Amino acid sequence: MRKKIVAGNWKMNNNKSETTDLIESLKKLTFSSQVRVMISPAFTHLAQAKEMTSESHLEVAAQNMNASKSGAFTGEISASMLQSIGVNLVILGHSERRAYYNDSDLALKGKVTAALNNDMEIIFCFGEQLSDRKSNNHFDVVKSQISAGLFDLNSKAWSKIILAYEPVWAIGTGETATPDQAQEMHAYIRSIIAKKYDHSLADAVSILYGGSVKPANASAIFSQRDVDGGLIGGAALKADDFYAIIQSA
Ligand code: PEP
Repeated sequence: MRKKIVAGNWKMNNNKSETTDLIESLKKLTFSSQVRVMISPAFTHLAQAKEMTSESHLEVAAQNMNASKSGAFTGEISASMLQSIGVNLVILGHSERRAYYNDSDLALKGKVTAALNNDMEIIFCFGEQLSDRKSNNHFDVVKSQISAGLFDLNSKAWSKIILAYEPVWAIGTGETATPDQAQEMHAYIRSIIAKKYDHSLADAVSILYGGSVKPANASAIFSQRDVDGGLIGGAALKADDFYAIIQSA
């Protein structure tokens, strides 16, 4: 049975004291043990977040990392640096990283390998643009992003993979995929994984939906058969909204 997951992507928001306040608020809440709850503060606050959450069941994820072990990569952070502060979860392939920071399919493949070599769990994001959906190309785009990033992995490595389907047209726009659109794509994703590997692996992979999930629409989306929770942007910055979303999972 797949556990539900609700992960907050805080992006480039919250200074040190805002980070402290939000984590303090989240720590006061009680969550069902059936749901994994993850937060992803900025790099500068990850160590603090790890310390603050050590007694809670909040998990801490990084929003990105570099594929290289170390070296002359000014401004970058490696997997082993994350590991050294106890962060063993990383979001890779977010559409903002793909769009603004050259996170190509090839670059992401390297990051996936580096994360797995460091025994990290990955939230691997992908999703189509509005133009892809309008031209009915969305299934092919998603298939090509998943296969480029992940289909060279062996079956065992998939225990470290969480997928996040995030249609780009729904991120931060207030426009959400309908529950039926989400279910249709998630079922498709499971089918291509079953075809490449097998049904038991496809059934075991958690597939999150992301794109303008709010308290008002979370339960309709999360109740779909192949939707295992969500990756939440804007609504993860408000403890009450994030809590309501977690409770919908
Ligand atoms: C995201 O950035 O991953 C996201 C889903 O953002 P939002 O919830 O704000 O659309």
